[in-house]
Amino acid sequence: MTTRKEGAIPPIPDYISTLVPYPPGKPIDEFEREYGVKNPIKMASNENPLGPSPMAMESIRNNISNLHRYPDGSAYYLKARLAEIYNVDQSQIVLGNGSNEIIDFLVRVFVDRTSEVISSDPSFLMYRKIVQAAGGRNIMIPLKEATHDLEAISEAVTPRTRIIFLDNPNNPMGSVIRSARFQDFLRSLPNNVLVVLDEAYMEFVREPDTPRGIDYMGRDRRIIFLRTFSKAYGLAGLRAGYGIMDTEIAQNLEKVRQPFNVNATAQAAALAALDDSEHLDRTLAITWQGMDELLQGLRAMGCEPLPSHTNYIMVNVGTDAETVYKQMLREGIIIRSMASYGFKKYVRITVGLPEDNRRCLKAMEKVLNSL
Ligand SMILES: *Cc1c(COP(=O)(O)O)cnc(C)c1O
Repeated sequence: MTTRKEGAIPPIPDYISTLVPYPPGKPIDEFEREYGVKNPIKMASNENPLGPSPMAMESIRNNISNLHRYPDGSAYYLKARLAEIYNVDQSQIVLGNGSNEIIDFLVRVFVDRTSEVISSDPSFLMYRKIVQAAGGRNIMIPLKEATHDLEAISEAVTPRTRIIFLDNPNNPMGSVIRSARFQDFLRSLPNNVLVVLDEAYMEFVREPDTPRGIDYMGRDRRIIFLRTFSKAYGLAGLRAGYGIMDTEIAQNLEKVRQPFNVNATAQAAALAALDDSEHLDRTLAITWQGMDELLQGLRAMGCEPLPSHTNYIMVNVGTDAETVYKQMLREGIIIRSMASYGFKKYVRITVGLPEDNRRCLKAMEKVLNSL
């Protein structure tokens, strides 16, 4: 029997119907079954290979019996600790369900259908998706020499420009902005355009000559910086991030935020992770060492990896990236093909544990030799 459905759906705006959903990955168990590989290693999402901070895990265990309560909507303790660490006022901090959510708040507050937002191509995909979902206009400026082309970005500013998103370091290239260039850039901008420094990987950066958002707090209201617990802190599954900015901007972001956007477990874990310097130090040490090993190994087999200030490497494998990605899957190594970003011969590899890196290099050598 066929049932006739009542009703029709209202029209969907073009800017929504043309959005491409984020491609879902498969659960790792399904992947094992499908490819018949044992212990696959995920080196695709720039996660911490050491796992969560032990102090964060203990904090989660200690807080589990309170899960019948709503979270603290003001995230009082987490904000207080961040305010202390950065020496800013609590009113300058906005917490998000991942730093992705702060990007969403910024766009909801500042962008409407008459607005333009500038970001680099390639850079973190969420900027342009969130802007498109809000009906705003994306202005994409190609990177120059694998880094943000600040001069071209500055020239692209119009009276409709509201926000400039700069991932520093850039994802996927791993490059950083230089301080002097950034100073010139700020001078060239109108005084009412926001500059969002997305510092998702800043913990990994050893280069001193790059701007850090914190140095501008209290000095330049246009600058906002974002940090996340998903990368160096190893808490990607919990979804917690924050933005630090001018108080008046923060107050407006708070208006569009849901009252309990950062869950209780995430608050407890993030607070503990902030003080687990041992875990962070181990993470950085293992990442820097693994980075060197991967760079050397990749170069030795004739690949061209880009230098990186992060925990991932963009690498030219000299042949079709999609094929290499698929062959690597069969070897049980999940990396990311950059073909969809327009880089047909590039893959992006996240630094893993020493044994992961070795397995990855061995698999890559096998795959490249077979092609
Ligand atoms: C991973 C990442 C983020 C962080 O996302 P969360 O929502 O905090 O997990 C933000 N920006 C860039 C460039 C990233 O790569």
